[in-house]
Amino acid sequence: AAFNGGAAYVKGRFVPMEEAVLPVTDWGFTRSDVVYDVVHVTNGCFFRLQDHLDRFEWAMARRRLRPAEDRAAIEAVLHRCVALSGLRDAYVNMTCSRGRPRVHGSRRPADCDNHLIAYAVPWIDVIPKQVQERGAHLWIAGLPRVPDASVDPRVKNYQWSDLTTGLLEAHDHDFDTAILCDADGYVTEGPGFNVFIVRDGRVLTPDRGSLHGITRKTALEICSELGIEAAVTAIPRTWLEEADEVFTTTTAGGIMPVSRVAGRILGNDRPGPISMKIRDIYWRWHEDGRHATPVRPLEPVAS
Ligand code: PMP
Repeated sequence: AAFNGGAAYVKGRFVPMEEAVLPVTDWGFTRSDVVYDVVHVTNGCFFRLQDHLDRFEWAMARRRLRPAEDRAAIEAVLHRCVALSGLRDAYVNMTCSRGRPRVHGSRRPADCDNHLIAYAVPWIDVIPKQVQERGAHLWIAGLPRVPDASVDPRVKNYQWSDLTTGLLEAHDHDFDTAILCDADGYVTEGPGFNVFIVRDGRVLTPDRGSLHGITRKTALEICSELGIEAAVTAIPRTWLEEADEVFTTTTAGGIMPVSRVAGRILGNDRPGPISMKIRDIYWRWHEDGRHATPVRPLEPVAS
């Protein structure tokens, strides 16, 4: 019952979510000096767990973050968080924080105690279900995405200042969420998702300014299976504005159709047929157990 709201791992211990707290001086909090990943559990199985662990390990290495736990231990922590939570459908976060310097006042990242945080909480949709049904209304943000050379978008990070500004703008204009373009006017991504457009029957997603999303990879694989031509390429802003269909992709929501972009209504103001097809197959893959890893049950307690 204690783990009703989810289960977390902090400072080497498993605790109920409400007990999962950090010191206010943790660099993860004061500097967003963390990398993270999110994997989902559907019907008791992780989806593409090894892909998420690969990306998380790569991101930690890029940021020279070294938690005490190795890959096998991280994997075991995730299994245990979900098992403790009792959830069949879950949002499962793994974060490595820079932590705090062992030497008071040190500004050296190498002096910090890096530490792993993980938690499993009830499923989250980045774009609410009702909005996904009618198709999201996408705002094109007025500010450019931070350059890839400054903050590498492939390192999954919480340096979301630009993405959040885009989201605030979107909400000011009564749109559901936002997409950012880079300073050269090419489409990148949004606050928590990749974006795809359908143009002349081809499915396209940006080749820059964005995370290499695992849902994006799945969407590309689905296109290949369906024989739909797909490409990762430069997408000028006008292609987004003129698209036949648009959809967004993320672990926390899956394939999420868009029905309006900026002022323009796409098709008949409903999710488009190609987007819906890809979305259907995405969930069919879950039902069929593709890329599924069953959550390990808790070991029985010795009596
Ligand atoms: N871009 C950003 C900025 C994100 O935060 C996310 C999801 N966390 C994505 C894209 C989608 O990635 P994935 O499909 O791997 O969840």
